[in-house]
Amino acid sequence: MKYHIWTEGCQMNVADSQRVGSALEHLGYTHTAKIESADVIVMNTCVVRQSAEDKAYGRLSSLQPLKQKNPALVINLMGCLVGVRGHDKLRKRFPYVDVFSPPSDPGPLVSYLTQGEIRSLEDAETTRRFFAMDEELILPVAERGKLVSAHVPIVYGCSHACTYCIIPYRRGIERSRPVGDIVSEIRALAAQGVKEVTLLGQIVDRYGTDVPDGPNLAGLLRLVCEVDGIERVRFLTSHPNYFGNELIDAIASLPKVMPHIELPIQAGDDTVLENMKRGYTQQAYRDIVAQIRSKIPDCSIATDIIVGFPGETDEQFMQTYQVLADLKLDVAHLARYSMREGTVATRRMSDDVTDTEKMRRFRLLEDLQEQIVTEINARYQGQTVPVLFEEKVKGRWRGRTPTNKLVFVETTENLKGLTVPVQITWTGPWSMQANLLQQIAPIQL
Ligand code: SF4
Repeated sequence: MKYHIWTEGCQMNVADSQRVGSALEHLGYTHTAKIESADVIVMNTCVVRQSAEDKAYGRLSSLQPLKQKNPALVINLMGCLVGVRGHDKLRKRFPYVDVFSPPSDPGPLVSYLTQGEIRSLEDAETTRRFFAMDEELILPVAERGKLVSAHVPIVYGCSHACTYCIIPYRRGIERSRPVGDIVSEIRALAAQGVKEVTLLGQIVDRYGTDVPDGPNLAGLLRLVCEVDGIERVRFLTSHPNYFGNELIDAIASLPKVMPHIELPIQAGDDTVLENMKRGYTQQAYRDIVAQIRSKIPDCSIATDIIVGFPGETDEQFMQTYQVLADLKLDVAHLARYSMREGTVATRRMSDDVTDTEKMRRFRLLEDLQEQIVTEINARYQGQTVPVLFEEKVKGRWRGRTPTNKLVFVETTENLKGLTVPVQITWTGPWSMQANLLQQIAPIQL
């Protein structure tokens, strides 16, 4: 019996698919890359943009002939397209889908295949027992002993409700995972060779706020750093309202926590921020960046920006431009605003910035950021930095610095899973090249 998983979207979905894959393998299924030869097909979907949702519908439609040819085929639709609030409309539109699973929940599929043993992650105790049966469940067979860096969800859902965002409606309210489950999962990952974990949450800094007697993110980081075998710890995504001093101190004092922070600003104008219901001002964001830099001078900071939000004037956009120009952050993930059915912005605001203007603003920020990151990365030239190598791509080993910069090294040595000091020989805006500084002893994988 074989399974095939199609995953779209964020790292949370990637981690969820790993969990589903390992659960299916626990039930006796093996992975196949060929969708036509699968007995179970899982479609793990994303709806953060309309284009991602349309892609999922397209894929789903393409499965109908397979189901007609093989009525025993089990099709599982999972993730944000299903959401947490029922799926009657989807069931009517795609009657050939057998199982609907909310995001991060392999329960309904396992239940379907085992005829009712597990219902959903809401039935947390049963699910935990199922996953506790075998430590190796944490990763599918194909990734065991091979994955260097893994993502671990620690907070599900989001209760913030920014006006442009569909996620709270699809992933539900914020729920922190029990600390014991997270630490055991990371121990299991370390036992399978994982060297780096990235803790995930829509607002990861809010970890533990719904568990009165549990640790917060700073406390969790301390526990994760104690796991033998884990060399690097990262976390994302942060929110300016919850990124406090305790967390900054934890990053500064824990050597395994990497100096890289994903802290979206979204806009640099206070009125636009208010319309987005982000809950902070551009000055507050500037203050946090200053605080991070005063305590962690070599920290890299990534941000997210949306241009062309409803009502954004050219003047307001230039505020965003100015913040980016002043702060000189390492990464800016840029997006042009687009309407998402079901969001407050789509219901109450008019998408009044033209596509051409959105593109103009996007390009201006893109050019600015390219200049900024080119300058920042040039400072690495000639420096020696420790790089954790993950895989060989087109003859070159690919790894990351503590600050999350992409580094390539050409060598015949096997660098997989090793943290090695390298000397940077070339820098560009998106990656760097380096030479090894030492002979690497061959390792058995
Ligand atoms: S914080 Fe805002 S943007 Fe992030 S997931 Fe929650 S609602 Fe969406």
